[in-house]
Amino acid sequence: MIVVGVDGGGTKTRATAVECVNGKGKVLGTYETEGSNFHNVGIRRASQRIREAVTRSANDQFPDLVVLGLAGLDSKYDYQVLWENLNDVGKEVIMDNDSFFLLYSETGGGKGVITISGTGSIVLGMDGERKVRAEGAGWFLSDTGSAYWVGREALRYLSKTLQGMEKETPLVKMIMKTLKLKDIDDLIYWVYHRGHRIERVASIAKIVDRASRKGDDMAKTILLRGSKELGEISAHVARQINVRQVYVVGGMFNSRVYMKGFRETLTRWKMEPIKTNKDPSIGSLMFGLNKVECKLD
Ligand code: BGC
Repeated sequence: MIVVGVDGGGTKTRATAVECVNGKGKVLGTYETEGSNFHNVGIRRASQRIREAVTRSANDQFPDLVVLGLAGLDSKYDYQVLWENLNDVGKEVIMDNDSFFLLYSETGGGKGVITISGTGSIVLGMDGERKVRAEGAGWFLSDTGSAYWVGREALRYLSKTLQGMEKETPLVKMIMKTLKLKDIDDLIYWVYHRGHRIERVASIAKIVDRASRKGDDMAKTILLRGSKELGEISAHVARQINVRQVYVVGGMFNSRVYMKGFRETLTRWKMEPIKTNKDPSIGSLMFGLNKVECKLD
């Protein structure tokens, strides 16, 4: 039997397929493609990318069980839409938010809290009975401290600077050079004329991090503000679940300044972040393998 685990994030979709024979599993393949949060890329593109990842990781064989961890699965309506579009990717299909399976990969379903800060952000806590969730309502309603949030703050600062309302730091030139902008007209064009693409705004977070490493004050301020706010939210969830450790996943935690702000906030609550570095599709895969009682060799 073939089991596939998928992590469909804002920027990347990653799948791992395993073939199980007599309760023993062997990896068939892995596959990675672009992001599949349907709030951001639309349901057609999202389901096409998820299907491609499932099929290609399983070497074109039809899987018996597919477990989908999906960014953008935030409400009962999201579940309906995703279910209608993806319930036929395997003989049996299970889906939940990406954070559920990323936490599962650390706790195996036990008590714990995870904070994701990638393209979007979310905090999920579970204690066996309760599921406590914060943020994770997409770029418009939430996603504090995410790469999108950081990118948008940087663009707002850039726009104010170009209108003479803020003091210019080197971050301004770094963004303008990377995005090939000369003035505010170009900035407005970049944002609105080519469609407001979430991953494009989120990719600016990398420039902000690069500037922070060179000592840019505004870059540091933005990163610290985002990480501290998300740190407070994480501590709030961790208090409810009654744990002192928070697993952290996602590109924003690779920023030194960001991680410092986050850690300092948790320390004030006598808590600590634990960075994890597993393949993101491992959690959904483990969930599927446990369900069919198959162990990886
Ligand atoms: C999405 C959530 C997701 C989070 C982290 C947010 O933008 O709305 O579903 O869990 O990003 O990937």
